[in-house]
Amino acid sequence: MATAGKVIKCKAAVAWEPNKPLVIEEIEVAPPQENEVRIKIVATAVCHTDLYHLLENMHKDGFPVVLGHEAAGIVESVGPGVTEFQPGDKVIPLFIAQCGECRFCKSPKTNQCDVWTKARLEVMSPSDSRFTCKGKKLLQFSGTSTFSEYTVVNQTAVAKIDPAAPLDKVCLLSCGICTGYGAAVNTAKVEPGSTCAVFGLGAVGLAAVMGCKAAGAKRIIAVDINPEKSEKAKVLGATDFVNPKDHSKPISQVLSEMTDGGVDYSLECVGNVGLMRSALESCVKGWGVSVVVGWTDLQDVAVRPVQLITGRTWKGSLFGGFKGKAAVPQMVKAYLDKKVKLDEFITHNMTLDQVNDAIELMKHGKCIRTILTVSPQQRK
Ligand code: NAD
Ligand code: ZN
Ligand code: ZN
Repeated sequence: MATAGKVIKCKAAVAWEPNKPLVIEEIEVAPPQENEVRIKIVATAVCHTDLYHLLENMHKDGFPVVLGHEAAGIVESVGPGVTEFQPGDKVIPLFIAQCGECRFCKSPKTNQCDVWTKARLEVMSPSDSRFTCKGKKLLQFSGTSTFSEYTVVNQTAVAKIDPAAPLDKVCLLSCGICTGYGAAVNTAKVEPGSTCAVFGLGAVGLAAVMGCKAAGAKRIIAVDINPEKSEKAKVLGATDFVNPKDHSKPISQVLSEMTDGGVDYSLECVGNVGLMRSALESCVKGWGVSVVVGWTDLQDVAVRPVQLITGRTWKGSLFGGFKGKAAVPQMVKAYLDKKVKLDEFITHNMTLDQVNDAIELMKHGKCIRTILTVSPQQRK
């Protein structure tokens, strides 16, 4: 490749400060260092966690940053020590690494690789970023930063996928779909014949609905304050839709009455601490399992201990519990084999230049996922 070993000048959407529109800028992307892979991003989607960083969390030290973490692309060049990837490979960047060697990677119980830390999920340290713009270092978000034509990612956080995979679809497996699907299948471990409730019907919640259905749930109650989400939830397997705004009673009471004492499994896919409590309280005593999937680090969550003492279990799930390097290629295969849906989640297609429009759509609940074309797709 003519660009290998050189700085690449390319287009990226830069978040210079919190709560302001992103700016399309020419940035410089340094060559990959040891164990790093430089990726040409073909397609990226917008996930609510990007909005969380930009509009809710708003820590000043998290800027300027290049957001985006749900993407797919093609390897442009690799740094020293990288043998697993070659230029031309189709890949998916992972916000949670799988180094394969740490205590957590060696345990089948978790996907919490030691390379992953909360700080890294937000922004990497400036010394780890390969981006500069107008002489200023830009931070990389979630270890990835995909609102850019090129990015550099540690090889422990890259999954090689089937060359037949359409990158403008499988990019969704980089975050939202694996997160929701895995939260149902891996974390809640939904059993056949069970009753489930999914709170929040963005891509994450809808993927949780799909996961509950794949696991054989008999009844799947989809809960959202936006009635427009009901139809898509039914397409993905929901049997019922409940809008909390249609009821004067607390939603946990509504669900309890619908299910003779509570659901077997509930999944919170919004990031609202009040709703996390409601999701737990919607579970049946004795064996109900509630999974926190929605992201927030701004508030504490409260619950009456008796809810747990009487036999409910409260869990959390990051990236659906999937170990990414191993599982993402399998999820890509499941999509190619028509065992997992992705197309149904895509409501809008745009280009990177329109990223602010895509953010507005999500802010106002008008999309499930918007795919942004970053670079034209190339075959190997
Ligand atoms: P989204 O904005 O597309 O969807 C959120 C949905 O929640 C919307 O349909 C909205 O109408 C609904 N909602 C809001 N308030 C509600 C309420 N009080 N009751 C019921 N529904 C309500 O978001 P998304 O991209 O699907 O992400 C969902 C959450 O998952 C976010 O918090 C995101 O940060 C988080 N997330 C977590 C992980 C993880 O690994 N745990 C990964 C990706 C995303
Ligand atoms: Zn995400
Ligand atoms: Zn590890």
